[in-house]
Amino acid sequence: MKTLIIGAGPVGLGCAKALAEAAVDYVQVEATDHVGGNWAHGVYTTAHIISSRKTTEYADHPMPRHWPAFPSAKQMCTYYNDYADTYELRQRIRFETRVTAMRPLERGWEVDFEAADTERFAAVVICNGHHWKRVYPEWAADFSGEVLHSKDYKRPEQLAGKRVLVVGGGNSGCDIAAEAARVASSTDWSLRQGVHFLPKTLFGVPTVELMRPWMPVGVQRAMLKLLTRITVGPYEGYGLPTPSHRLFEEHPTINTEIFRYLDHGKISVRPGVSSVDGDTVHFVDGASKAYDLVACGTGYAVSLPMLPEGMLEVRGKVAQLIGGMLIPGQRDVYVVGTTQPRYGLGPLVTPAAQLLARWIRLQEDLDLPLVEVLQAMGQKPPHTHLVDPHQALRQIRLARRTEPLIRRQANQMLARRSSRSSQSLGRDLFEGHRPRTTGGSPLEFQPRPPA
Ligand SMILES: Cc1cc2nc3c(=O)[nH]c(=O)nc-3n(C[C@H](O)[C@H](O)[C@H](O)COP(=O)(O)OP(=O)(O)OC[C@H]3O[C@@H](n4cnc5c(N)ncnc54)[C@H](O)[C@@H]3O)c2cc1C
Repeated sequence: MKTLIIGAGPVGLGCAKALAEAAVDYVQVEATDHVGGNWAHGVYTTAHIISSRKTTEYADHPMPRHWPAFPSAKQMCTYYNDYADTYELRQRIRFETRVTAMRPLERGWEVDFEAADTERFAAVVICNGHHWKRVYPEWAADFSGEVLHSKDYKRPEQLAGKRVLVVGGGNSGCDIAAEAARVASSTDWSLRQGVHFLPKTLFGVPTVELMRPWMPVGVQRAMLKLLTRITVGPYEGYGLPTPSHRLFEEHPTINTEIFRYLDHGKISVRPGVSSVDGDTVHFVDGASKAYDLVACGTGYAVSLPMLPEGMLEVRGKVAQLIGGMLIPGQRDVYVVGTTQPRYGLGPLVTPAAQLLARWIRLQEDLDLPLVEVLQAMGQKPPHTHLVDPHQALRQIRLARRTEPLIRRQANQMLARRSSRSSQSLGRDLFEGHRPRTTGGSPLEFQPRPPA
């Protein structure tokens, strides 16, 4: 049986390359007819990355050096298509094939497709992305005008000539507020709380590239706060609320344009919404105004609808995965890409995918589920979905080095179980009971030397 990769977005493509290099026999399915995921079908035509080219490209496939520091959505698509072609990944992708459900077997998984027969796979790697399940503010259902989620915002004409209220201070909210400032008849921007806005570049260098791997997070925080203060000034000077959380406790918003439009008086900052009455929105400060369109930059929920209900707990935005990709209580299933790297995702995808390939091989050797062994070694689910890329890289390197320890731990766990079960077997025979089946013996565990 083959391994199945679900999704041919940036993460799924990175995983496919790593599995091919590790000679893991796999097939990949993609619900749409193209590679590149979000960059092909999920962002507005005018989008540019906010993480820089260098912090977003795969570690093993640089973007063209003559490209700008912040490539466009179109260039990102070109890049992912080039990646798929260079490493001959396209041939193994079944396009327009959506996975609808999957069930664990004793070994492997049974997978249902939307328009094809059910198939069995040795393992499944889920890379379905976490920027597609729209979250709306509760009051949006009561608004009688047009409600648009940022996922459905594609071009400025959707905003042109309208009285627009943009909700949310994340990266999408910020981009749409800046676009509305250019083309809408009026632009208001509702911020429930203060946000740390970082400029895209400082001293001509992409801000995210100023953060060096050796810098402790406290130093990064202090440095960015100081540099932003020097170059942009206090947020309050633009009418923005003061953030009540520390920088990096939420995903940072990286945008330079917004300050210009605030300075030009093209955007009016509003506080949170208290209620809605037809097309009139009431704010918590007692003000109210009628709008034609509410644009919700209110984010996404992490969702894995193909898994049996309740199999993977998601607390807020945090998928309760062990080792970043393993579901407690399950084997031969890997979930990749539910976290939010602070800068670009590329440099993390390549090493994480290589670790994935090693773990698939390791799991083939182990009788026990790998996740059970890691939990016995003290691994716990994360408490945040936000990832410091430098720290994550260190953890991935460490995880690679612990492979012999994992094998030893698995051996010990099996030996303990085996000795417990032979004790109970003796008791059963002595008492004339039928022997119980055991969970495997240490002799069945024949570790292969690490690759
Ligand atoms: C406006 C916006 C700006 C962003 N800017 C940046 C940025 O500057 N830098 C950055 O690093 N990231 C950015 N991101 C995050 C972006 O989501 C990631 O860069 C990247 O797309 C994540 O890759 P992925 O493969 O995990 O998910 P996706 O790109 O979402 O790809 C998932 C793929 O899986 C497929 N799929 C889903 N379910 C199924 C199924 N059941 N069966 C078969 N196929 C399925 C989908 O069709 C899709 O092609 C941005 C996101 C948005 C929305």
